[in-house]
Amino acid sequence: MDEQIRQLQQMIDESHFTLVITGAGISVASGIPSMHGLNLAETLQFASTSVLKLAPEHYYRVARHSFLDAIFESGPSLSHKKLAELEEKGKVQGIITTNLDNLHSLAGSKNVAEIQGSFAVNACLKCGKRNYDVNIWNQGKAPRCECGGLYACWPVYAHVGLYNDDVPKAQESR
Ligand SMILES: [Zn+2]
Repeated sequence: MDEQIRQLQQMIDESHFTLVITGAGISVASGIPSMHGLNLAETLQFASTSVLKLAPEHYYRVARHSFLDAIFESGPSLSHKKLAELEEKGKVQGIITTNLDNLHSLAGSKNVAEIQGSFAVNACLKCGKRNYDVNIWNQGKAPRCECGGLYACWPVYAHVGLYNDDVPKAQESR
């Protein structure tokens, strides 16, 4: 293991362009379960606009338990912080992630393509207004737009899939 760490450090030191690709594994230390550890019943409810519309506060409690507690209480892991530090030093040029938790940005990384969307990409289900502030999910209740409509995050209102706005950003890194 130490040898692998040493080799990784050497590759980063010698590289002129380092792009990091992350998935669920990096967020496990923050308390977010990987696909294998997800509670299926909760995940199905979280992914459902019907549950959100019919029972917004129940939906919020499920999302809180599945993802939001980890985001707002544990926060970014050491790995998220280290990647932000490497970007700051010019050793990492960008991150592409399939994670929805926004933890790379919360750790301070700037050039992040969240290609499946995240809790920082939200739309009002009534008027369509976009909201890019992850903190709307940390107010203790289901977030609402000023028009009274409920906010849903990208994976939910778009039924998962790729987040079109960030895909070109990921492609630019080639
Ligand atoms: Zn609205």
